[in-house]
Amino acid sequence: MDSALRRIVIVGGGTAGWMTAAALSRFLAPGTDITLIESDEIGTVGVGEATIPAIRVFNDALGIDEAEFVAATGATFKLGIEFRNWGREGETYHHAFGLLGRGLGLLPFHHYWCRAEALGLAKPLGHYALNKVVAEGNRFAHVTRADDSPLPPLPYAFHFDAGLYAAFLRRFAEARGVTRIEGKLAGAERNGETGDITAVMFGDGRRVEGDLFVDCSGFRGFLIEGELAAGYDDWSHWLPCDRAIAVPSSSTAPLVPYTRATARTAGWQWRIPLQHRTGNGHVFCSSFTSEDEACALLLATLDSEQLADPRTLRFTTGKRRRAFVGNVVAIGLSSGFIEPLESTSIHLIQTGVNRVLDLLSSGPVTDAARDEYNRRFDFEMERLRDFIVLHYHANQREGLPFWDEVRAMPIPDSLKRRIALFEDNGAILRDGDELFDIPGWSQVMIGQNLRPRHAHPIAAQVSEAGLTQFLGSLERAYVADAARLPHHAAYLRNFAPMTNNGARS
Ligand code: FAD
Repeated sequence: MDSALRRIVIVGGGTAGWMTAAALSRFLAPGTDITLIESDEIGTVGVGEATIPAIRVFNDALGIDEAEFVAATGATFKLGIEFRNWGREGETYHHAFGLLGRGLGLLPFHHYWCRAEALGLAKPLGHYALNKVVAEGNRFAHVTRADDSPLPPLPYAFHFDAGLYAAFLRRFAEARGVTRIEGKLAGAERNGETGDITAVMFGDGRRVEGDLFVDCSGFRGFLIEGELAAGYDDWSHWLPCDRAIAVPSSSTAPLVPYTRATARTAGWQWRIPLQHRTGNGHVFCSSFTSEDEACALLLATLDSEQLADPRTLRFTTGKRRRAFVGNVVAIGLSSGFIEPLESTSIHLIQTGVNRVLDLLSSGPVTDAARDEYNRRFDFEMERLRDFIVLHYHANQREGLPFWDEVRAMPIPDSLKRRIALFEDNGAILRDGDELFDIPGWSQVMIGQNLRPRHAHPIAAQVSEAGLTQFLGSLERAYVADAARLPHHAAYLRNFAPMTNNGARS
């Protein structure tokens, strides 16, 4: 690393701060001075508990032993998300990770399924997603494409205790030389010419100098907004939920290997199973229901004993207009928030850290690096936004004012184009290397009852008998594959049971 970036200061010790500290301490050259500042008085959000499979790339890159991590964070395995009542009340679909059926020739699987469904030959889409079939049986095992295994790989993520994950990464980072300072920052000093931040200051006069500042201070954006006024693109006209109430409850059997997202009157409720408890939360729109009503609904629908008082979090969906300004880069909630429906926030921390490492590790901050960081950040956030808006917009929950409004609202042009293409002949526009893939988009579009008007001409060439045989053989294979796997709870007990102090037994 160039001496121009010798001192890195991370403001914030939530999931974002400690993920950043762990990765920078692991990958930057020895001699880089990394300081993390956090305030016990302010605390952390700490409710990020569900992830997507890419988290494993992050943990693996750091060299974290998976069993040690699972035991230390009370983690369980996650094969996807079950969406209840998002199309019509009573309907359920899964967004399962991994493959969806098998493509034939040029076309992805969903085209054949749509044609078969129109002919009355198909079972619901989830019957052809191995992760969903395995999840529904509450099973799990590590499956790679071994020569002796008949199963395709089973991509998975984790549910974990975010507070314990931050503590785990803190141990990792401190062991690699990161200095932690506890205290509440009160301000910053700027370079009179460049406007760059030169130091951050505590109320008692202590100061910490740096060359690069990573703002992980949460929603408040202590540096990126408080000092540098980066601006915020407010997306609440597309994603109007603005509050969440979180409450833990006891763990229950069976220990399901998936997140549940249930649509409610004016929002939705998450259920995230951990080894030692269940995370629950109600995300809602305060213009359509009061906090008291939302809390009462959450508590009335818990399926196990409440373990603590409910906690309310307020947010505005959107993103920082520029996530990287001067020598400050915002990572985590300080850079924006698109609500937790597809468990993407921790992933966004990971990609932010990746971009920092990619663009900055060999030199000082340049305009080109900042611009490229911001371009990639905008691209990622806008694609994710469209994916989440789709869940709300394509609903048939008629007669409920919140759902009527989000169904009728104008949506981003980019999403309009995707829906129009799909509704024509089932084509799915996947934009560059955006996060969600064709199986992800097709499961949500079909799950929310969008359908193509015409079968794709290539799918239409397969005979009815051929379709029946194709779908039947896939379904039978997946049922048989799933039955070979152990139950999730039993597998976890053997792999990495949590102990009371969060260490592996
Ligand atoms: P925070 O946790 O808010 O941490 C901010 C840090 O900055 C704290 O350490 C604080 O002390 C420090 N700080 C702030 N100001 C100062 C100051 N002046 N001086 C010193 N220190 C300061 N993500 C997922 O991936 N999956 C999920 O299932 C999920 N669910 C969520 C549900 C809800 C309701 C919400 C709101 C978020 C959810 N997230 C989820 C997002 C996830 O919680 C966050 O991305 C993650 O916790 C990162 O937060 P953070 O570290 O950016 O901010």
